[in-house]
Amino acid sequence: MKLILLGAPGAGKGTQAEILSRMCKVPTISTGNILRAAMKNKTPVGIRAKEYVDSGKLVPDDVIIGIVRERLAEDDCKNGYILDGMPRTIPQAQALEEVGIDVDWALSLEVPDETIIERLGGRRVCKDCGATYHVVSSPPKTEGVCDTCGGKVCIRKDDAPETISHRLEIYHRETAPLKDFYETRGKLKSVGNMNTVDETTKAIVGALGL
Ligand code: AMP
Repeated sequence: MKLILLGAPGAGKGTQAEILSRMCKVPTISTGNILRAAMKNKTPVGIRAKEYVDSGKLVPDDVIIGIVRERLAEDDCKNGYILDGMPRTIPQAQALEEVGIDVDWALSLEVPDETIIERLGGRRVCKDCGATYHVVSSPPKTEGVCDTCGGKVCIRKDDAPETISHRLEIYHRETAPLKDFYETRGKLKSVGNMNTVDETTKAIVGALGL
């Protein structure tokens, strides 16, 4: 299973990637998570990425391509992988092809902008382990405390209301054209917005024939 998850920020890529990863026994490679860890550890990549990530801008393609190539060369990616949040631009997709990184499917999670704005406004994340919550639909058991690791649950800097609309704009301009890119290669599958995480997983399983 070599899968790319496409979709706006907050469409549920990270959540579905984790579920599919367990189901198909392949790792998820989330460029957002890798960048946030690099920022936390103040690595050279993290220092370079910080101003972009915090303001909701895309990190330059060369940084992303470097991160992903390195990660995909690791042993656990031999039998497949789920790419969550990469590619996000046509040059990134071309770079994957150029270095011979192929995929079976690009799956697009189609969620309307109004729903994205509601979801991201209520999203909270654990500063330590990255677990995701929502103030209404899935709050932590104790407010502000991660159920999984006891870490502090906060709002992500790039989920600030003024940054959300900017990220959506970037998604429509830079990332949505990837749907055509994979469509012309006969690799695009789409799943519409569902009410629950479970229903979305079922729709994906059906669409990919898992
Ligand atoms: P995410 O967790 O996928 O929403 O990513 C958070 C942020 O990391 C994005 O808003 C970008 O600043 C950066 N980022 C993650 N993946 C990419 C990518 N493939 N290309 C450029 N920037 C990225």
